[in-house]
Amino acid sequence: MKIEARDYRSGLPLSISIEKGVYKKIERIANSPDSLSFPWIAPGLVDLQINGFGGIDLNSEGLSSEQFEILCRKLFENGCTHFLATIITRPRNSYQKYLQKLNQLHCALPLNCIGFHLEGPFLSSTEGCRGVHRIEWMMKPDLSWLDEVMEASGEKVKLITIAPEIDKELSLQFIRKAVALGSAVAIGHSEASWEIIESAVIAGAKLWTHLGNALSFVVPKFQNVLLDVIASDLPYASLIPDGKHVPMVAFRALTKALGSRVILVSDAMAGAAASPGIYHLGDREIVVDPQGKAIEKQSGRLGGSTLRPFDGVFLAHKMTGIPWWEWWDAYSVRPAEILGIAHGLKEGNEASFCIFDLSPRPNLRELYHKGKKVYSSS
Ligand SMILES: [Zn+2]
Repeated sequence: MKIEARDYRSGLPLSISIEKGVYKKIERIANSPDSLSFPWIAPGLVDLQINGFGGIDLNSEGLSSEQFEILCRKLFENGCTHFLATIITRPRNSYQKYLQKLNQLHCALPLNCIGFHLEGPFLSSTEGCRGVHRIEWMMKPDLSWLDEVMEASGEKVKLITIAPEIDKELSLQFIRKAVALGSAVAIGHSEASWEIIESAVIAGAKLWTHLGNALSFVVPKFQNVLLDVIASDLPYASLIPDGKHVPMVAFRALTKALGSRVILVSDAMAGAAASPGIYHLGDREIVVDPQGKAIEKQSGRLGGSTLRPFDGVFLAHKMTGIPWWEWWDAYSVRPAEILGIAHGLKEGNEASFCIFDLSPRPNLRELYHKGKKVYSSS
């Protein structure tokens, strides 16, 4: 199969041949009147945090294989060739069974879900940090839990978010073990100090999960998580670019300070790519208002987002003025790096990519997964 399209980074026309699901040859071709009308090509988006999508909650016990397939395909429609199904804090004794079930669904349908992100249960229970996670299910890091979830998930836990300050020594052991077992570790829902962040980085932590959210409304002037993360050696921090989780000015400030350490995530919940109404995030009830804000009914806190990944790239561009193609890397190649996946328009890589137009407005035309067209807007 051969595709002609414009490279998202350079704007130059490319001819790309694909064989057995990988890029066989990528060649620059001469500009011509024809090539100016080529659509754009860019590597598929990689979202490390999908709690739900298209009306479907990944945290609900009743999740069926039909629903799982709808969710995966809705994410194709919105630019994601890779995503991590994200499980928020739940009772300790329920992880094994639920991950076995998710792994069965995933194995029966090898589409864009590439594993699981466990956000909790080792999070900070302080009011600001907990978000919509339930305090009674939170606990200190537990090394035997790690063996259990790895086994139950078929070794597909790829990211775990923890708050290392709840027990520093145990957390460092936990991070080392998780990394050795093949999972990346993020810090999040946390008030870890700079010193603890630095120790966690040495132990192998790579990311801060949704920086700026799950944080107290009032923070000390100099000693606060935002400055500590910026000053740390943590390689990456994720931001939710919906304009609701991190307001525009803060988004610009964090982006300027963090530069190419920023990655984008949606933190999408069931109400994303669905109508306003009431949805679930596990046992929590979340109301999605007509503006797309997802609010937990009981507490009034944000409970995930309704952001569509493809839109996220252009919203981040609009908020910052930083070129959209740089944001595209922050939502594709860089998150893939965290998971150790070679992604991007390069010979030998898996041919999972988006074909899109920019005018009159950004529009995803087609999506290819492992060399196969799995979505077409026409
Ligand atoms: Zn969270």
